[in-house]
Amino acid sequence: MKIIKSVGKENIAHVYIGNIDNKVIEFAESLDYPKDIYEKWVLTISCLYGCPAKCLMCDAGKYYDGRMSKEAIISQIEYMILKRFPDRNIPVKKFKIQFARMGEPAFNLDVLEVLKELPNLYNAPGLIPSISTIGPKNSEYFFDKIFNIKEDLYKNGKFQLQISIHTTNINKRDELIPIKKLSFTEISQIAEKFVKENDRKITLNFIVLENYPIEPNVIAKYFDPNNFFIKLTPLNPTSNAIKNKLKNSVSSSTDIRIKDLLEEFDYLNYESVVSFGNPEENNIGSNCGQYITNN
Ligand code: SF4
Repeated sequence: MKIIKSVGKENIAHVYIGNIDNKVIEFAESLDYPKDIYEKWVLTISCLYGCPAKCLMCDAGKYYDGRMSKEAIISQIEYMILKRFPDRNIPVKKFKIQFARMGEPAFNLDVLEVLKELPNLYNAPGLIPSISTIGPKNSEYFFDKIFNIKEDLYKNGKFQLQISIHTTNINKRDELIPIKKLSFTEISQIAEKFVKENDRKITLNFIVLENYPIEPNVIAKYFDPNNFFIKLTPLNPTSNAIKNKLKNSVSSSTDIRIKDLLEEFDYLNYESVVSFGNPEENNIGSNCGQYITNN
């Protein structure tokens, strides 16, 4: 892989643009400022060249040019790790590798091979791989395999699975994520099998948008609070979000809609978190859904 460009700010985040076989690849790293890298370090890598899902809020869907090989996925991780820890010993307490930049991970089975390989490549006691998915239809095979890998290599809270549904309204979910997806019942059935004692619960992720309802009672009907953890995030400033006229319905993590939702989730026995990142990351372009190559 050849690095074409990098943008970022020390102690906050960097985005790297690389080239593999004449195809563009984007990946990012971020720190949890003001904590130092030894406390928390997050790598966010791509699995596809672009993305065929074309979610309305995400710039990765502007084009699609195929799956990345296992080697292409690992080359992103290698680049960021060897820059900082050339001996492959990574003494970071919370070291996350998120499969979440460009491309839905469930569309690429090489992601499974990468997950199997990571513990052989690095001495990283704090490693937590994190798969972030929109839950495409017929991806039960992918989740079965992920489950086996988690049980073999990443037990006791060392693995994170995030499923982004964004709204409890089925038609609005189809509008925002315009591919066939697992139903809420199917997601719930996957979780029944997936979450074992001492595991992290599955994160159910929602961008808090205007006109896209998040109804705690609907969530409670389908998603067991023993298996799911709720995450609320803002809409990041992607060019597709602007083009598709999507609007944040909250301006900060203390907004009244957020406060009301958190209270209702608490009442329904859900653990929940509001994840508003460092605003500087929006300028750098390292936040979820952002893709800087064409901007
Ligand atoms: S949000 Fe994920 S699945 Fe949707 S277009 Fe972006 S990368 Fe693809």
